Amino acid sequence: MFSLLQLQTILDTLPDPAFIITRSGQYTHIFGGTDKRYYNRGYNLIGCNLNDVLAAEKAKWFAQLIATVLSTGQMTIVEYQLLKSDVKGLEDGPEEPLWFEARIQPLSFPVNGEDAVLWVASNITVRHQLEQRLQHLSEIDELSHLYNRRKLRDQLTRQFNLFHRHHTPCSILVFDLDYFKQLNDSCGHLIGDKVIEAVGRVCLQTVRDEDVPARYGGDEFAILMPQTNRQQAWSVADRLRRKIQRVLLEMDLPQNCSSISGGISEFLPEDGKIEALLERADRGLYMAKNLGRNRICSKY
Ligand code: GH3
Ligand code: MG
Repeated sequence: MFSLLQLQTILDTLPDPAFIITRSGQYTHIFGGTDKRYYNRGYNLIGCNLNDVLAAEKAKWFAQLIATVLSTGQMTIVEYQLLKSDVKGLEDGPEEPLWFEARIQPLSFPVNGEDAVLWVASNITVRHQLEQRLQHLSEIDELSHLYNRRKLRDQLTRQFNLFHRHHTPCSILVFDLDYFKQLNDSCGHLIGDKVIEAVGRVCLQTVRDEDVPARYGGDEFAILMPQTNRQQAWSVADRLRRKIQRVLLEMDLPQNCSSISGGISEFLPEDGKIEALLERADRGLYMAKNLGRNRICSKY
């Protein structure tokens, strides 16, 4: 078969770098890492400790992972981010975070008198950015920058299950722009689009981090509010209604096209599916429209 020299050459030719790191965090050997698009050859790491190379938090995380792999004896796969500030002495490194996937295997023999692992690192930054982009495209409505209907329904299902398990309240506001068709007809679709953008902006500025603001479709929006009962949700919704009206009036739109109407509902123990919540909120919305618009109602 291969001579030792040939084996060494093969190992050194591997595109991804493979590090041997001991339990105490010493880099003892490095093979491969020849793909210059992704890696600087790391031979200067040999003889260094994780603490010499990485910022304290990151070095601790690496050391804990190595300890876990050694105690379980199992190969472990992890994804992690490396910032410029995570790597010591890296003045001219990239500003954007790099993402790596590591496959970490315990070695069956000691190295320099210690247990050790083989840590193979793959630079997955491009894949990670693509995944982020795809996730954004599949969840975010491009006009309002709010979540889309699909993401809202995913979160509704999640909150529905949490409600039935823990009985924590959860409410939804469904709202619709008043006389939006008339606005499109009199001011044009471009202005209509600007209104949808503005409503999205106000929602994002107003809701809490845990809320899920979404464009449900057309001129209809929804805000899912976990940990919020119907009365609290009504207060949030009414504040949002007044804020949206103020912003739309500042855009010099006709008065009757500068408001929203909305319906509120909260999950009830007898709800068998998420549609029950949405139907109640819709009933509130229709009530608000019938009572003259520019208001939030909740009809039970
Ligand atoms: P109401 O007060 O009863 O809600 O009256 P409305 O005129 O708003 O009636 P409705 O909600 O049925 O009309 C929605 C309109 O929204 C119809 C459609 O042309 C318009 N629309 C839907 N999506 C968009 C969009 O992305 N951009 C623009 N500019 N208009 C849209
Ligand atoms: Mg409307």
